[in-house]
Amino acid sequence: MNKMVTTFSCDVCHEVKFLKEEEKGFIKFVCQKCNEVKITVKPKEYRGLKKHCNCLDGSFKISKIDNLDKITIKKIKCGKCNQEIEWIAIDDKGNEITEEEREHLLNTVKCEQCESRFFVIDSTYKTPKVKCLECGSDIRDIKCDDYVSLKEVCSCKNNIFELLKSEKIPTCRECGNKAEKLYVDNDGNEIDRVTRELLIIQDNYDYLERQIDEMKTEFEDRIYYVESDISRLRGKISDQEEHNYILQNDIDSIEREISSIGRDINSMEYDINRLKENVEEMDFKIRY
Ligand SMILES: [Zn+2]
Ligand SMILES: [Zn+2]
Ligand SMILES: [Zn+2]
Ligand SMILES: [Zn+2]
Repeated sequence: MNKMVTTFSCDVCHEVKFLKEEEKGFIKFVCQKCNEVKITVKPKEYRGLKKHCNCLDGSFKISKIDNLDKITIKKIKCGKCNQEIEWIAIDDKGNEITEEEREHLLNTVKCEQCESRFFVIDSTYKTPKVKCLECGSDIRDIKCDDYVSLKEVCSCKNNIFELLKSEKIPTCRECGNKAEKLYVDNDGNEIDRVTRELLIIQDNYDYLERQIDEMKTEFEDRIYYVESDISRLRGKISDQEEHNYILQNDIDSIEREISSIGRDINSMEYDINRLKENVEEMDFKIRY
């Protein structure tokens, strides 16, 4: 492993002690002697370096690990007594807070516009909105069940809320309870639970009625199509019957023709027989 721990020194004067300057989100270390900015560190969110160590010296020595592609800060120590300087939890203003308080800050939503973490609830909309207390930006819409909205004021009388990243519903800044629900009608007037249930039943009933109407129309359409199919088939059948009738007539007249031919043949046979008899009679007369 080509890891090497070395101590930062000033490029200009080779000093190894640095002083700390803080800007929003960054810590800059400047050379104690020549004041050149040497190292900029971006701490984790809500983390800062302890102001100074127990010996009250304000200077720092910084050790680093040189990797191939990047430099990692290893330790920050007191410039005087070499004691390691701890990272502490800080709030937005840089004041030291407990680890629990830092956890809480990490878990709360911040306004993207002004970074405030305090919000109010606006329930004048059908879907209640969480708005920034400071700048009024819309932070989040709280989708509630039918005929449910959120109370703008907590039962502890406070109306300022926080939003935990893990929770959908805002929590009261004072008592930590979740914003309370209330039942409302379509005009936003508060109603009781029974009225809400009746409204839901009415909605379900209306929905079913619409479904039934749709089904009825669909059936009527289908019946119409089936009926027009039937009448088309009936038309075909009667065409066919017409055709059959004409054929039958043709067959009848051919049969009549055949039987008249038969009759003609009979009468011709009769004539032939008579002629034969005449011939035989004449033959007989001639012989005798
Ligand atoms: Zn220097
Ligand atoms: Zn010290
Ligand atoms: Zn804001
Ligand atoms: Zn409360």
